[in-house]
Amino acid sequence: MKSKKVEDREGFKAAQALTVGHAQTTRVYDVPVVVDLSKCITGCQICIDSCPVDCLAVNPETTKAHMKYDECWYCLACELDCPKDAITVKIPFLIR
Ligand code: SF4
Ligand code: SF4
Repeated sequence: MKSKKVEDREGFKAAQALTVGHAQTTRVYDVPVVVDLSKCITGCQICIDSCPVDCLAVNPETTKAHMKYDECWYCLACELDCPKDAITVKIPFLIR
């Protein structure tokens, strides 16, 4: 039988794992450029070619564009050039 101390520690670790998992999920999706995968065309690279800092790429898992590096300059080239209106650039409030 486990002591109360061991149970508390295991409970804390489980809660911590959940928190870390949530933080990682937030980090993955909370990027400046969001691609609507239902609109993005497999094989199109227009936004990738438009980006002056090469931070977009094809995600091999989805075959659609995604933000590979969080280096966005908020120039909006990708959003304006996308023929399917699939990109939203989330410009931070302080630089609007
Ligand atoms: S330009 Fe639009 S459709 Fe083309 S790869 Fe980028 S997000 Fe997809
Ligand atoms: S807004 Fe400009 S810098 Fe940012 S991902 Fe799009 S093209 Fe690249």
